[in-house]
Amino acid sequence: MTTALAYSDARGRVYFDAHREPLADGGILRAPLAGELIPAPPATVLAQLPSRAPFVAGKKVAVRRTALAALLPAGYTRLLLPAYRSGPEAPALGLFGYTFVCAVDGALHVAALRTDRSEDWKPRTFASGELERIIEARRATDRQNRVLDQLELCSREYGCFTAQNVFLMRGEAALPVSPKCNARCVACISELEPEAGIPSPQVRIGYEATPDELARIALFHLARVRDGIVSFGQGCEGEPLLRTTTIARTIERIRASTSRGTLNLNTNGSLPASLRSLIDAGLDAVRISLNSFRTQPYAAYYRPSGYGLDEVLESARSAAQAGLRVSLNYLTHPGVSDERLEIEAAESFLSGVRVEMIQTRALNIDPERYFALVGRPREPLGMRTALQRLAATGARLGNFTHRRAIAPLRARAVEPVTPD
Ligand code: SF4
Repeated sequence: MTTALAYSDARGRVYFDAHREPLADGGILRAPLAGELIPAPPATVLAQLPSRAPFVAGKKVAVRRTALAALLPAGYTRLLLPAYRSGPEAPALGLFGYTFVCAVDGALHVAALRTDRSEDWKPRTFASGELERIIEARRATDRQNRVLDQLELCSREYGCFTAQNVFLMRGEAALPVSPKCNARCVACISELEPEAGIPSPQVRIGYEATPDELARIALFHLARVRDGIVSFGQGCEGEPLLRTTTIARTIERIRASTSRGTLNLNTNGSLPASLRSLIDAGLDAVRISLNSFRTQPYAAYYRPSGYGLDEVLESARSAAQAGLRVSLNYLTHPGVSDERLEIEAAESFLSGVRVEMIQTRALNIDPERYFALVGRPREPLGMRTALQRLAATGARLGNFTHRRAIAPLRARAVEPVTPD
């Protein structure tokens, strides 16, 4: 395999240089391996990394060239980061999942694995005015519902799939509920502090939705979508466990009317006792987010208030013991998630807790900022190895919440992680 450097000029035009062998960043600078590269999937977006020059073999910097990264569509897991040197004027990078990109035989390739497929998560393109008409038709059925205001904003401005699903009546539908949070994630998409140097990509919901507003949306969705899912806890809000009473009442109202579908909670898992009260109310599934199974990287990124990683893991453990479908939203980052100690910590936890699915998502952050927080790895084993070892624990690997109930772990073969 011969790789060629892919880079851009200051005007954003993309070039390949077959005489320069690009390096990637996997926590350490190195050449990408053949098994780490796949042709750039459809819907891959190229991002210029301003005031950053790409590293090439010999650890030289290709000056006067601007480094490029790929932003992957849903369903792929990133294996390597772009390798670059930042100039003194380099601005902070926005919150995206920067992925190594190069050319192989004249075609763009990215360092990624295909790790999931779902019709419900396919990006949909809309004819001019189509989405607006669909939204308006749904809103006309429930004019007084403030939650639909937020979901319309998220659908139109942020292209959020779970918000759009409310109007498209498919798959997993969003029920944003909490304006507050008990963490201060360094790359929170709904609220960033001024020192972040970049605006947060979304506006957090600013009011406390009522059980009645939430239940109306859930019941409408579950009545029309086969195996539908409604999920509290979205990117546009804070932490739903801070609104346990409202969510419990919403669940009770939904279940008083229908037994259809799955009631899911996306959470940081900070309050195990609050989660238990939702399980008692009838919650079916929970997806708990974390960036690491180790205390230091978790605390450095989440900056939690009044809880720590122990409580997060306890939430997963007690939900699994109660028989819920438990997924982890594992925010991955090459050079951190594939550190030997991280893999061992994950294996140790997963050996004692039945997790149905590990959803790998790129941690969307400026890589330099993240490494400054959590440190560079001492022994990076590679993301392919990390994914293979996670799959070997019995948890299914994927990227999204699926509609179909997944068979019990004992009856399921471990899915191999292979390139598409
Ligand atoms: S837990 Fe979620 S809402 Fe809270 S700071 Fe982190 S990303 Fe933001």
